[in-house]
Amino acid sequence: MNKLSIRDLELRGKRVFIRVDFNVPMAGDKVEDDTRIRETLPTLRYAIDQRARLVLASHLGRPKGKIDPKYTLSPVANRLRELLDQPVAFASDCVGADAEAKSKSLGDGELLLLENVRFHPQEEANDPEFSRQLAQLCDGLFVCDAFGSSHRAHASVVGITKFVRQAAAGLLMEKELAYLGKAISNPDRPFVAILGGAKVSDKIEVVQNLMKLADTLLIGGAMAYTFLKSQGLPIGKSLVENDKLDLARGLLEDARRRHFRFLLPVDHVVAESPNSAETSIVDIAKTPENLMGLDIGPQTIAVFNEQVTGARTIVWNGPLGIFEKPAFAQGTLAMARAVAAASVAGATSIVGGGDSVAAIEQSGVASKISHISTGGGASLEFLAGENLPGVEALTNKSGSQKDF
Ligand code: ADP
Ligand code: MG
Repeated sequence: MNKLSIRDLELRGKRVFIRVDFNVPMAGDKVEDDTRIRETLPTLRYAIDQRARLVLASHLGRPKGKIDPKYTLSPVANRLRELLDQPVAFASDCVGADAEAKSKSLGDGELLLLENVRFHPQEEANDPEFSRQLAQLCDGLFVCDAFGSSHRAHASVVGITKFVRQAAAGLLMEKELAYLGKAISNPDRPFVAILGGAKVSDKIEVVQNLMKLADTLLIGGAMAYTFLKSQGLPIGKSLVENDKLDLARGLLEDARRRHFRFLLPVDHVVAESPNSAETSIVDIAKTPENLMGLDIGPQTIAVFNEQVTGARTIVWNGPLGIFEKPAFAQGTLAMARAVAAASVAGATSIVGGGDSVAAIEQSGVASKISHISTGGGASLEFLAGENLPGVEALTNKSGSQKDF
């Protein structure tokens, strides 16, 4: 990576502004799942060990630029205290006199968490004056560890970098970029990409870009039906985006022309609705008119497994069925096991996307996956070949002309 790393910074005795992703699920006034907090602990511990003075900022939820107690980060400060086993000061506003005073009273190795940056509309507007006020809370040093927010040009991610001396990637950010970067620039082959989930329209650019990068594309989930219907196959009442049929047909034609291995389900689990108890397995070509496809079937699982088994790089985004319901989770769980087995055999596997990560955790094989990406939207944009503004804005390593 040609961007500065936190390891390149002189942190001792300095206030460093660290943008983290503490956008965690809450249950009332408690943190329900602290994964995102734990993911950034290596960066925080590193800065603490270097005797920096840490000023942490994050967003939480969508308070739409207004103070909303529902989205206060104060419970996150409590959880962080427990995880680090040390005090964490809290400023009830991310800018202004209180935050400034508290940042100045930090001692070496001490932490301050600022209140939700999205309580100010200037955050999402990437407002320069607000960015400058945030930067005032540190001594010219900014670290971004919020990969999940790096696809947004917001003040605490992008704007602030204009007002600091050095802007560097945190350890989690580096890890994300290392895994995803290798997959899109220099993957070990065969490279198999698995895409599923709800909508084609969410992931069309990802399909297009992965067709350039990967050797094989396996498509399941609801998004498969738009492709299947575009080939004149019956899909019953399965979810479909009729306005994307031409696009889907075009992509499949392109794949055929280039002899690119683009595999769609050959059979599926069908039912009247996601809630019905009665299910059956049919070939796609024999899909009854009144039923919906809710999971990939056993023949498809076998075909997909075979591809995954020989892979050296695997990227997976999107469940292959309604995995939230046990009756339609088999395809996703089987794929999770296959990806885990391939990883144990030496493949590099990367799983991204909120629901996909939940599915992997549910499958019990999460620990075997090489890299579970914390940034759903950001990892998709990265895989779609787009530049992430939060990465672009970081300081280039001296002597390097090329951006990451
Ligand atoms: P991710 O969060 O991993 O990016 P998406 O949000 O794109 O994934 O899609 C996940 C959703 O897609 C899940 O809620 C799942 O139930 C749904 N889904 C998967 N397959 C189907 C299907 N065949 N029909 C309807 N919904 C589906
Ligand atoms: Mg999702």
